[in-house]
Amino acid sequence: MGVLTFAGVYVGAKLHASREREAASLALPASVAALAASAPPTDTTEAVLGGVVELRPRGPRVNLASAIEVDFSAPVDRVSVEAALESVPPIEWRTSWPKPTLLRLTPRAPLKSGTLYRLRVAGRLAHGVPLEPFAGEFRTEVPAPKDVVKGRGGNLVLTFDDGPRGSVRTRRLLELLEQYHVKALFFPVAQNLVRYPNWIRDVEAKGHRVCNHSYTHPNLASRIVSDEGVRREIEKGAGFGRCRLFRPPMMAHDERSDRVARELGYSVFLWDIDTRDWEEIPADEIYNRVLRAVEPGRVVLFHLQARRTLRALRGLLPRLIREGYVLSWDPRDVDQAARERFGVGTAATWLGPKDAARARWVAAFTSPAATDPWPFPVGETEPRPTTGAP
Ligand SMILES: [Zn+2]
Repeated sequence: MGVLTFAGVYVGAKLHASREREAASLALPASVAALAASAPPTDTTEAVLGGVVELRPRGPRVNLASAIEVDFSAPVDRVSVEAALESVPPIEWRTSWPKPTLLRLTPRAPLKSGTLYRLRVAGRLAHGVPLEPFAGEFRTEVPAPKDVVKGRGGNLVLTFDDGPRGSVRTRRLLELLEQYHVKALFFPVAQNLVRYPNWIRDVEAKGHRVCNHSYTHPNLASRIVSDEGVRREIEKGAGFGRCRLFRPPMMAHDERSDRVARELGYSVFLWDIDTRDWEEIPADEIYNRVLRAVEPGRVVLFHLQARRTLRALRGLLPRLIREGYVLSWDPRDVDQAARERFGVGTAATWLGPKDAARARWVAAFTSPAATDPWPFPVGETEPRPTTGAP
């Protein structure tokens, strides 16, 4: 009895100290775990020992056809566990119990790609003591597309939001874009540019354009930001007077912010393909997300602060060019047929009628009679530099 008490106390202390960690009981010395398991089922022992030991799968790139398994440290009351099981987003599954301590969930349909699933497990042990509630998560893969829509010489506009963070990162990105003759749009957070006084100049010198993503990146649809605050945020955005595209932070915009942007001469410019790179997803997921959604005229959203974007771009840029895309915002870089057919942006990019915006953009750069070089009022773009010199 003395030994059993010791084991119970020891196990209890150990588990309690790390109750938030899923694999806690696995960390016990085997002899202690065996002692505890052989102890009579007193309430105390059951209460501290009963729980989820492991939930599989975990981590990124989970196959869409995966079954989900939950390992328990002791037999559980199946009805209560099955009733309390919860997944966000929801999964329709079939349940089976290969062992009294192993629950298998087989999804009735493939899981959604590129999705973070969170599972909560609760219920009771076989003897009625409540399980320690448990949560686990995994992320499904984004499979490579079977077919990639061809570019047929149309524009694909790459855009980079937020940041800048670190001059080395910006330099590497600019070098990579230059290597593949990309002309991109940048939407930095203007207050961050205080630390990089030459940033706009350096970026524009490579043929890119720097546009407005507000001064501090607030939620402009929130009533916490005053009317005057909305105006100030947009007025102090990057590229004021040089680019008439405004991209609201976090895509949070409403009638008020759209009106202020319009009054200040801006068009709200969103995107078609969200890479979700800011979630720090694997580079191959960023790569596949773009290839699965790419079409001529579309606009792709990346983030300057995301750590795996550069790696994804090293594969993406040559691939997109091979598929027939012109990676540029500049209508002059594509031939006339593709220009008129695809333009820049789709219905998702522009708040207003997309055809009007696209026609205006194309005309501004290709019609000799154009007097309003929208959306970039500062005259002609510089010729694309031919050397890597800054
Ligand atoms: Zn942003």
